[in-house]
Amino acid sequence: MSKIAANISRVLGEIQRATLAVDRNANDVILLAVSKGHAADAVRAAHGAGLRHFGESYLQEALPKIAQLHELAITWHFLGPVQSNKTRRIAEHFSWLHSLDRLDIAERLARQRPTGLPPLEVCLQVNIDREATKSGVDPDALEPLARAVAALPGIRLRGLMAIPHPRPDFATQREPFHRLAQLLTALRRTSPDLAGLDTLSMGMSADLRAAIAEGATIVRIGEAIFGPRAHPRQETQWTTAD
Ligand SMILES: *Cc1c(COP(=O)(O)O)cnc(C)c1O
Repeated sequence: MSKIAANISRVLGEIQRATLAVDRNANDVILLAVSKGHAADAVRAAHGAGLRHFGESYLQEALPKIAQLHELAITWHFLGPVQSNKTRRIAEHFSWLHSLDRLDIAERLARQRPTGLPPLEVCLQVNIDREATKSGVDPDALEPLARAVAALPGIRLRGLMAIPHPRPDFATQREPFHRLAQLLTALRRTSPDLAGLDTLSMGMSADLRAAIAEGATIVRIGEAIFGPRAHPRQETQWTTAD
């Protein structure tokens, strides 16, 4: 078995145990393989091992990779910050966007989503720990944004995403995920337009178990599948020419 296949089987085992521990079904959690910083061959190997959902954060890196792998049945997710000059290519080349946090960006995506494609599935990124440096909508501003986004054509609001500040252990890791899950529950109750929201994109390698305990439906795992990235995760690496 290749290294990547072995890693995937280990991560799937972790998901299995984490769901069993809280009486959830492992099939209700999508393993999103975050392939940023890794070449198309690595994605091919992970696809060969059974994965179908892949995530990228930098458009300039992602687009050639998507083109190289066009013959594979892959659902591509965009996870990175979205400036207005990126919306057209996101609308054209991705199935999901996890990092939406502004209405003007949502409006551009709605206009630019090609009519031949199904609506772009979107999660609103919430700045769950209210960190000054983090992207994401403030929890207090979430509801009006969700209502406005849900009303747009061309995109389908699915739920919430967050990247909490790192915490050292299971109990403390659960806390921000619990708050995100509560925000989703509250949104679903506010209007029929939002009642169908079904997605919590939360949990990475270090806090996957806590996220699943709090209801994650998509976990985003990079290094635990593909190994260390060849280049740094700083956004500046790819943003200049985007
Ligand atoms: C890079 C990234 C991940 C995966 O991180 P790893 O440390 O590689 O597991 C998950 N979510 C987002 C939004 C990311 O940018």
